[in-house]
Amino acid sequence: MPIPETMKAAVLYDFNDVRLEERPVPAPGPGEALVKIEACGVCAGDIKIITRGMPKQPPMGEFIIGHEYAGTIAALGETVDEFKLGDRVVVEVHKGCGRCRNCITGKYTVCLNYGNSAKGHRANGFTTNGGFAEYAVNHVNTLIKLPDTISIDEATTITTAGTSLYGIDMAGGYIPGDTVAVLGPGSIGLMAIQCSKALGAGQVILTGTRDNRLALGKKLGADIGVNVKKEDPVQKVKALTGGRGADFVLVASGQEASLQQALEMTRKGGDITILAHFEKPVMTDIGLAVKNGINLYTVRGEGRMSCHRALSLMEEGKINGKSLITHTFSLKDINEALATFVERRDDALKVVVHP
Ligand SMILES: [Zn+2]
Ligand SMILES: [Zn+2]
Repeated sequence: MPIPETMKAAVLYDFNDVRLEERPVPAPGPGEALVKIEACGVCAGDIKIITRGMPKQPPMGEFIIGHEYAGTIAALGETVDEFKLGDRVVVEVHKGCGRCRNCITGKYTVCLNYGNSAKGHRANGFTTNGGFAEYAVNHVNTLIKLPDTISIDEATTITTAGTSLYGIDMAGGYIPGDTVAVLGPGSIGLMAIQCSKALGAGQVILTGTRDNRLALGKKLGADIGVNVKKEDPVQKVKALTGGRGADFVLVASGQEASLQQALEMTRKGGDITILAHFEKPVMTDIGLAVKNGINLYTVRGEGRMSCHRALSLMEEGKINGKSLITHTFSLKDINEALATFVERRDDALKVVVHP
């Protein structure tokens, strides 16, 4: 397939001003490949960029947003022999510098040279151009070959799954038989349920405010759904664990109350991973964690190759991204796609855009 000189791309011009424009198709440098994008999901991270901005993002008027994308390899840069033209691939966001202490130990989502492209760092759709376009350049470190059995649309959920899996990994990852509570039935929470079950968790309890989301969570493997508007989630988790509390709690809700609930529902000596991004400082009784010997972990995104591992779980049918996709749009309707996600029109969960 010949590569055109220009492409359609969604460019951020100012806060809340995304325009579809014609842009040059980028050329891959050494260690990079050009991806012909076939689908890109909308994520809360995109909305944060559009409404408030993020550190080290490209200048307004130049920045092509989008980071949850998949497609096929259209061109290879120098030294790339890991992929061949036509390979179906999905991307992960973070390519660390590869030379700082964090990158060397696999924590490349918190690279100490974040945003420093001269040192080799790039976060697709955050610090460099991303996937709401017809083409994007990626470093090979952020490309994963897609098995034939996984559709391009489903592949766009892999960063979400990888983030949930990384949250389990960071807390030790050895959860067979454990009671796991997942707070928040958004995309990350729904993937956290599935990853927990795939890794052998015992009872998985999901909390949230909407019955239809809790029902989807149960379809995807949660044993119990707790609507926090109708029941006290802490009491419920205690009741379901003989008064002890959950062994492991994944906080996937940025609601102010969620962290306090997590601290109160975790077993003494248990673990909590915070996956949610809180918009404001949160008031919480952190002394509970100290008093009860509870370990607190956080993750930012999808480190330690967790997207690769998530893809393996998806290939084996142990996690399902298809069920999260509620809407698809054409790239020309990018603003409609973004509004659908933000306003949760028709209970939008994952919104996927096709160039
Ligand atoms: Zn995202
Ligand atoms: Zn680094």
